[in-house]
Amino acid sequence: LSNILAITGRPNVGKSTLFNRLVERKKAIMDDESGVTRDRHYGFGQWNGKYFTVIDTGGYVTGSDDIFEEAIRDQVKMALDEASVILFMVDCHDGMTDMDKDFANILRELKKPVFVVANKADNPDLTLMSAEFYGLGLESDIHVIASTSGSGTGDLLDAVVEHF
Ligand code: GDP
Ligand code: MG
Repeated sequence: LSNILAITGRPNVGKSTLFNRLVERKKAIMDDESGVTRDRHYGFGQWNGKYFTVIDTGGYVTGSDDIFEEAIRDQVKMALDEASVILFMVDCHDGMTDMDKDFANILRELKKPVFVVANKADNPDLTLMSAEFYGLGLESDIHVIASTSGSGTGDLLDAVVEHF
């Protein structure tokens, strides 16, 4: 019950795509039972005999005092609070953005394991792009994946469940 994996990062980097992949089997079962489970943010994953809860968060947004953005930030902070391991997802297509850097500053303060996950590495050129994320200044190795194909997700999970 204390194995909680939070998937975080700014909007559109592929968090929900990874979430759906990690909790795929459960989701399929739940969708058969009810249409309202589609937008749920909690799921259950299993890897190498370890069981864990996965939280999909709304994208962390900065840059305005918008009340809606504030609500999203609160939601993300609650997930960070609950999490035992945090995935910080970034996008190899877009490269490192100011929002990524803002979020890295928040994660650096937490005393929790953070994995930088460079998503959308669909080809070797994009895989090379992922090196720039060392510039985020987090201690984590960069885990390079493509959520749509599942490439790299096995190695990522191998590393994540070592904390569980
Ligand atoms: P979220 O806002 O972070 O939850 O991002 P989503 O999971 O909704 O994905 C945003 C968009 O990125 C969607 O169109 C996905 O299909 C796309 N996407 C996710 N993972 C990959 C990937 O590995 N490669 C590519 N090319 N697109 C991806
Ligand atoms: Mg999403």
